[in-house]
Amino acid sequence: MLKVENVRCGYNESEVLKDVSFHVKKGEKVCIIGPNGCGKTTLLKAIAGLLKSEGDINLDGIPIKRMKRTEIASKVAILMQNETVYFSYTVYETVLLGRYLHIKGGILGGPTKHDKDFVMDCLDKVGLTDVKDRQIKTLSGGQLQRVFLAKALAQEPRLILLDEPTNHLDLKFQLELIEYLKQWANTDGNTVIGVLHDINLVMYFADKIMLLSDGQIVKYGEKSDFVDGKLLEKVYHMDIKGYMQNSLKMWNNVF
Ligand code: ADP
Repeated sequence: MLKVENVRCGYNESEVLKDVSFHVKKGEKVCIIGPNGCGKTTLLKAIAGLLKSEGDINLDGIPIKRMKRTEIASKVAILMQNETVYFSYTVYETVLLGRYLHIKGGILGGPTKHDKDFVMDCLDKVGLTDVKDRQIKTLSGGQLQRVFLAKALAQEPRLILLDEPTNHLDLKFQLELIEYLKQWANTDGNTVIGVLHDINLVMYFADKIMLLSDGQIVKYGEKSDFVDGKLLEKVYHMDIKGYMQNSLKMWNNVF
């Protein structure tokens, strides 16, 4: 579904991603991990076509360089840490914005009953039906995060890119979000690529893990490649084993 070949990109003169190549199959859940500043967000932006890059990024066999923004958005939704907040909008209106690609004539064409039902369904899935008419400026960080997930779902993408989606969420909603995305990926072969920091969530959620360091892939592989903690120690320069002793031991028994 996604092929990334020899991708290099960055900001102005400074190169962040240095020759990154990997493939993601339809239906896979991939977690990207690595220290702050190693290029995780940059990689997600490049995949979503938000940053110009050298090399090739193909979505379902089509180079994103040849796709229009709307074409990319019909396949890929990106959920960033710092989403733009449209302060005068309600929850419902914000989620409806995710639907504009599917609305004939764009947002000015007016949503059909199907579009409205679809938005309500997305709100229901993230548990926000009760607050659908609230102004989003009155919501908590966790509720806002869920609004943006619902907006991404309303886009009906085949690939969701997540940038630390659990940041503002309490434990209950972290697990619910991860569980929901797991199901979303497992049905209909949808794909999720997410940046998560909590190694426990990564181990629970991911099929495959990509460890990035200084703009390069140190390892892209199965979860079992990571459970001894050695790769993580090398990249994070700390005693991960000591810190994660119990959880890595637990996962070690699982794989
Ligand atoms: P990560 O997500 O792994 O923390 P990022 O991809 O956000 O890392 O950033 C990688 C590098 O690119 C960092 O050195 C960061 O300072 C730099 N960077 C990120 N965004 C910008 C930007 N908009 N302009 C210039 N440099 C940036």
